[in-house]
Amino acid sequence: MQTLSLAPAFSAAALQRLQVYYGTADLNAMQAQARQILGIDQTESLPDPASRLHNFERFGARHFPQRPPDSDESDLNTYGPEPGMPVYDLLKAYALTDYGALMIQRVLAQPNEPPFVIKAVPDTAPKAWNNIIILPPDFPRSDARFAIGGQRVDPLAIIHHEFEHTRFGRFRHDENNLLEEENFAVREVENPVRILNGFEPRYTYTQLDPAGQAVVSFSILQPERRQPGAWTFDPADPRQLIPFERP
Ligand SMILES: [Zn+2]
Repeated sequence: MQTLSLAPAFSAAALQRLQVYYGTADLNAMQAQARQILGIDQTESLPDPASRLHNFERFGARHFPQRPPDSDESDLNTYGPEPGMPVYDLLKAYALTDYGALMIQRVLAQPNEPPFVIKAVPDTAPKAWNNIIILPPDFPRSDARFAIGGQRVDPLAIIHHEFEHTRFGRFRHDENNLLEEENFAVREVENPVRILNGFEPRYTYTQLDPAGQAVVSFSILQPERRQPGAWTFDPADPRQLIPFERP
């Protein structure tokens, strides 16, 4: 089972934002709600703790494309995470959490057709689509923050978010609904994990173009109110957007 660490010390301003977002600033109540949203509140239906590491090994063997021993070292973009990469350890840690163990079990229970793969690709941002997740090999970088808004990154929550974009997620994919899908992935998948891990929820989402420039921003609580470019949340009210100035 996942053990929850001691309640983190949220600042007074953070507690006020949590009150707006969840209607409570009681961490136990927020975590109970998070477990429900993630479908991990019925502990008897979760994968047995002893089976989780074994499942991860089966998962890696099936879904991390293996580098042949004679492969060209410069051929970086084709293979899965390997032991020794930080992202490999992160995926292993993910597989041991309640939500991660459940996801890994769900993937293993289905036929691998078309093949679902996780690839370690240097110098990329985490991203995913139906049958693939792409992660940088050095993820998580220590104390990483989102480029726009500067909130801290919870790497485990990012992994769960990316699984949401695959065929194993709950949201019905639609090219015309990409921002709705992102809002769902942050609100219903990433933020509950963040709360379990002691991080404040993300309050905004900014879509970046391939060059890393902000395209459009929205508040997770009011996703229909979009602003072109880089916006972040008002520290006094996480529903309100304010223009983001790079520090
Ligand atoms: Zn996403």
